[in-house]
Amino acid sequence: MSEYSGYSLILSFTHFYKCVYFYRPEFKLMVNLILFGPPGSGKGTQAEKLIERYRLVHISTGDLLRAEIAAQSPLGQEAKSFMDSGRLVPDEVVIGMISAKLDSNPKAGGFIFDGFPRTTAQAEALDKLLNAKKFSITRVLSLQVSEPELIKRLLNRGKTSNRSDDRDEGIVRNRLDEYRRKTMPVADYYDRQRKLSDIEGEGRIEEIFNRLTAAIDGAGN
Ligand code: ADP
Repeated sequence: MSEYSGYSLILSFTHFYKCVYFYRPEFKLMVNLILFGPPGSGKGTQAEKLIERYRLVHISTGDLLRAEIAAQSPLGQEAKSFMDSGRLVPDEVVIGMISAKLDSNPKAGGFIFDGFPRTTAQAEALDKLLNAKKFSITRVLSLQVSEPELIKRLLNRGKTSNRSDDRDEGIVRNRLDEYRRKTMPVADYYDRQRKLSDIEGEGRIEEIFNRLTAAIDGAGN
């Protein structure tokens, strides 16, 4: 009898330590999202709302690149000509930037990637970077917006924003071409991992936000 209770005592101790060992709140509660969709699909607008709801660190490669250009850094100088003509910036430039951003936020409860990954090579690099930190992507939210609506939204934004790539219809069309050729295959990459949710991206901002949170909260439960 005493032998038995000694054994169960050991068992419950190991169980206790296992629980403590495996209880890593930063893993369990971490939500890492990718907002995916063509230029003008509302990624920035929805990212702002999602950050607040889920307390995420926002990583927008477009914003990071524009900040590099404003600071006239060598990276910014390299990126500028690509951005001005509506082409994608080379993968290694963008991946390096993401890696630095992940390292500089060690306490983040989760990340939201906006405008990244935009090529399959970037998606593979992101998986590697996250794996090394024992993180993973929770959900990829793909905003669906028709092309005429995208062009309308971008040219409208160009009237009020200081983004020169939104003012010229030729550049806008280049960006949509780049999206179709290089970025759309990224959706298949995450679909194969069963992480992709298509979200109707037209309608009221609040409506779209509700569709996004429903997809996030329903994921993996
Ligand atoms: P939008 O989604 O409206 O095009 P962004 O701010 O996300 O706006 O991107 C602006 C430009 O920055 C892109 O046209 C591209 O040149 C560059 N860029 C942003 N993110 C990436 C990325 N992940 N890979 C390559 N280029 C990028």
